[in-house]
Amino acid sequence: MKVAANRLDLAYNVHKDEYEKKALEVLRSARYILGNEVSSFENEFAGFLGGGYCIGVGNGLEALRITMQAMDIGEGDEVIIQGNTFVAGFLAVCAVGAKPVICEPRYDHSMDASLLPGLLTERTKAVLLTHLYGLVVPPDEFIDFCRSHGLYLIEDCAQVHGGSYKGIPAGNFGDAACFSFYPTKNLGAFGDAGAVFTHDESLAAKIRKIRNYGSEIMYQNEILGTNSRLDEMQAGLLRVRLKYLNEANAERRKVAEAYDKGIVNPLIIKPVVYPDTVNVWHQYVVRCSRRDELKRYLASKGIETLIHYPVPAHLTPAFSFLGYGKGRFHISEELADTVLSLPSYFGITSDEISYVTEAVNSFGA
Ligand SMILES: *Cc1c(COP(=O)(O)O)cnc(C)c1O
Repeated sequence: MKVAANRLDLAYNVHKDEYEKKALEVLRSARYILGNEVSSFENEFAGFLGGGYCIGVGNGLEALRITMQAMDIGEGDEVIIQGNTFVAGFLAVCAVGAKPVICEPRYDHSMDASLLPGLLTERTKAVLLTHLYGLVVPPDEFIDFCRSHGLYLIEDCAQVHGGSYKGIPAGNFGDAACFSFYPTKNLGAFGDAGAVFTHDESLAAKIRKIRNYGSEIMYQNEILGTNSRLDEMQAGLLRVRLKYLNEANAERRKVAEAYDKGIVNPLIIKPVVYPDTVNVWHQYVVRCSRRDELKRYLASKGIETLIHYPVPAHLTPAFSFLGYGKGRFHISEELADTVLSLPSYFGITSDEISYVTEAVNSFGA
């Protein structure tokens, strides 16, 4: 049997007619930028998150960068970020001229809130909290810390569309939440797309301006903006996708439950989740001290796996200027060396799940 790491065709095929109808509708509307599809998607996604302001942008990285720009985070400022997150957060901080200050994660992949006081300086402006792999991080300690020190709390929600804590959707915990709709995400577009969600009306208005050349009224450029607009085609297709998001998340949850139940190999550490969370399992990530061997073993059985992420940002050439060497953030580094994402996607069959489970269980036997 062959099991792919991911299959995007399956989720598309289930609602193919609707996607194709919408695509034609957008093509024929002759309105391609900032029209009804974008404003409707923004309203619908804000509604999905319980109400607030949603601003569609070009992609997840832009959502992060524009949010920080709108918060006046810049030269001389510091943003606390976890060492095991995707590189986009680091790039966004650097793009506005600020410095990423690395916080170690816990072994469950979430940022370690207990380390925050030790990282605080008079330059700290914000904490960027990532809900990695679709696992919701209980936000209370982060909210308290940010409030008591006058910091912004930004949530990186690129992997957690629809996840919640005590019934409150992720994205509502901080001052702003940044979403990516990269095709593989739980709410995936058919190209690049992203959004910012916030309850702050004036922040929303500023982000809205920045994404569109710093102008609200055409040719009246009030602030230094950029061109990072969600387009009508992606917005229209995302509206279709959003209708089925809960269903798709429920399916990912079933896959995770099946792996949780089936995997019993003592060499494998399964993911742990916090109480009071509804998780959306963007990835099902196990840990194994012999990870590379496990990956090769599964590949030999036709099972594709991925690593999210193989090198922590501080050890990449791009961020060598931060001056951190190997060993400086040992938990981030250990996670990078031991994590493995098992095939988990909409449409994976129970036979495939069983096949992967058996293969994982037979590793090292
Ligand atoms: C995907 C992702 C992003 C970036 O999104 P793009 O749309 O690819 O720019 C940011 N943060 C995290 C955690 C992600 O997974």
